[in-house]
Amino acid sequence: MALVVVGSVAFDTIRTPAGEAQEVVGGSATHFALAASWFTAVKVVAVVGADFGEEHLAIFRERRIDVEGVERAPGKTFRWHGEYHGDMNAARTLETQLNVFEHFQPKIPEAYRHAPFLFLGNIQPALQLQVRRQMNRTRLVTLDTMNFWIERAPAELRQAFAEVDAVTLNDGEARLLTGLANLRQAAQAIQALGPRIVAIKRGEHGVSLYTPDFIFKMPGYPLQEIRDPTGAGDSFAGGFMGYLAGTGDVSEANLRRAVVYGSVLASFTVEDFGLRRALRLTREEIDARFREFKHLSHFDL
Ligand code: AMP
Repeated sequence: MALVVVGSVAFDTIRTPAGEAQEVVGGSATHFALAASWFTAVKVVAVVGADFGEEHLAIFRERRIDVEGVERAPGKTFRWHGEYHGDMNAARTLETQLNVFEHFQPKIPEAYRHAPFLFLGNIQPALQLQVRRQMNRTRLVTLDTMNFWIERAPAELRQAFAEVDAVTLNDGEARLLTGLANLRQAAQAIQALGPRIVAIKRGEHGVSLYTPDFIFKMPGYPLQEIRDPTGAGDSFAGGFMGYLAGTGDVSEANLRRAVVYGSVLASFTVEDFGLRRALRLTREEIDARFREFKHLSHFDL
């Protein structure tokens, strides 16, 4: 089943204890789409500037990702500069240039409108809402955001939360949004804003999925080295939503498997800078790590 994503397509400049990368292709929609494309047909809604060439769009086309909804506007592509320290569980933003996103009015192509699965990736909450309202027959809508928008656009963000089924946030963002330190309480407070399903990501400590019927927790894959955490959150969401859309099944058992596929995709993304690892990934590697996750968390009664 088709999956639509709206989010940023960016040039990222990243510094981590393992090195740095300048002006590499990134963005929430990009990391999401690449991860989800292993499981289902992905359609992207975004805007890029005149500096985003065909060679950059080829990254999407090579994975058969539909870019009909990617508009090219006069001006510069969105840019993000960030750095990571210590355990690298949270990014420090040094600079955000919205550029072409400032005046973006998303228009959903006709061929996208009836897709049952929708991911509102990290961008201005007002744009997330505009896209949400142009899609009419969705089965599962998931939203992701970050501290930048929680602080700058709290009212629009709350409106957006009220119109989605699921959200993904990291632990710091969940605490910032709710003012609650305890993550189970924070998840409940977020559910009270609208979304039934709340996924709280905690970097190397993994992810917790809170639903009205069950809680599921999965640790992060125990990597020996993390080079660049950028895109981990979006790759998680891409694996999660991609697997749900590809199977067309949102049962409890499948939601649990989707969390594991999300964790698998995120664990590969952080092994190298930017999209480098994602672009040389294979289906065999994904399936092998999925099985390792089962082994990692299995025990007998
Ligand atoms: P994550 O998956 O959470 O690590 O998100 C990484 C991506 O988010 C980067 O590739 C950035 O380009 C993008 N990003 C950072 N800040 C923003 C923002 N304020 N709005 C939209 N995208 C952003």
